[in-house]
Amino acid sequence: MTEETSEPEILCEVRRVDKDYDQGGGAVLRVLQGIDLAVKANEVVALLGPSGCGKSTILRILAGLTQPTRGEVLDHGVPLRGLNPGIGFVFQSFALFPWMTVSRNVEAMLEAHSLPRAEVAERAARAIKTVGLAGFEEAYPRELSGGMKQRVGMARAFSLEPEMLFMDEPFSQVDALTAESLRAEVLDVWAPKDRNPKSIVMVSHDIKEVVYMADRIVVLDANPGRVRTIVENTLPRPRDYRSPGLLQLVDRLHDIITGMEMPDVAEVDGASQAFEPLPHAGGGEIEGLLEYLDARGGREDVFRIAADTDREYGQVITATNAAELLGFVDTPHRTVVLSAEGARYVKASPAERKAVFREKLLELLLFQQVRDAIRKAGSGQVDRDYVLELIAMNLPSENFEATFDTFVNWARFGDLFSYDEISEVVAPSEEMPVGA
Ligand code: ADP
Repeated sequence: MTEETSEPEILCEVRRVDKDYDQGGGAVLRVLQGIDLAVKANEVVALLGPSGCGKSTILRILAGLTQPTRGEVLDHGVPLRGLNPGIGFVFQSFALFPWMTVSRNVEAMLEAHSLPRAEVAERAARAIKTVGLAGFEEAYPRELSGGMKQRVGMARAFSLEPEMLFMDEPFSQVDALTAESLRAEVLDVWAPKDRNPKSIVMVSHDIKEVVYMADRIVVLDANPGRVRTIVENTLPRPRDYRSPGLLQLVDRLHDIITGMEMPDVAEVDGASQAFEPLPHAGGGEIEGLLEYLDARGGREDVFRIAADTDREYGQVITATNAAELLGFVDTPHRTVVLSAEGARYVKASPAERKAVFREKLLELLLFQQVRDAIRKAGSGQVDRDYVLELIAMNLPSENFEATFDTFVNWARFGDLFSYDEISEVVAPSEEMPVGA
């Protein structure tokens, strides 16, 4: 039977899915919000987004490993009960049993699926050969390189011949060259239409990787995780990392992501009364970014920074947003440029740096209001709960505890306020003449 003209079959799907985590004390962390995503037959779907945006959670919900708080999970159009049996996983961490040989690692997975003994041996041998590990059947994981360990991980997943292969950051722990070959090999296994896996769903924060692999790229927003946009990738296969088409799409995704995470906030005339959300980057990270920019002549492309400093771009963008909020950098398009204030900071002595940082903090409403509250309080200090309430009321969509942690980090970094974890009290630091 041919189905050339019909819509592709939908293998699994989430509809209007939310996921909340209870943080205790009535606080709830919303990790996913309103996720709609269908995995069709014969496609590679990639979930792309910064760390913590909920990519793995989406995989786990589709697989039936985690229940959504709201919404539906379907397996071939039917509500999913328990685990989805059609999914094989490849994890970032390889997840191998160190006391078992390569063969036993693969066989144990098949045995767990209650396959007959002869079939276990036959499937394991075939999968090990497929991933190029013939001759290493009796080796132990400790004797293998990272790339070879991941080949065992892939053999385990392939040996199950699952309808869908789910891969969670599968190549982020192997060197770049090995990652390139592993990607190509996974696609070779996926390509024949008459064989499983029919479809692949992968999680990645590597833009080049997803453009190389995927037919559809689901770009996610963080806090809470939402589908920002879905980009169709019709580049012909096999793909070449250096082809103009691929580089163009990489560029477009860069723009989508930076557009998402580096909003050029419209300047409000006069004093804005809105609290600014604090990007959760530590003072040391902000300082590191400024020093890096200074060493690069004052400007650099944000993705170049991530590559150079071996950071995830999500992290670099957060540090950049923090530095921008404090007036240390500007971000025209994708470039991060040291501002005059940023340059002043880098050139200053350690003590002067603290003073500049403090000055910048006191341009933010949250820090001003805490300073004013401390001045008014007879005790010369305020409680953690007071600051939390201030944050919760003025930044209702932010995670107020994370914001408080960043507030404390910055205040300490600039010697503005101290915070005592035991008494949960925020007080002026010695450097800060708050009472004056
Ligand atoms: P990603 O894969 O995009 O890095 P995850 O899906 O792993 O993101 O996590 C999304 C968010 O959910 C993170 O903020 C993480 O801390 C939170 N999270 C994940 N699992 C749990 C859990 N069991 N309890 C509480 N929070 C969780």
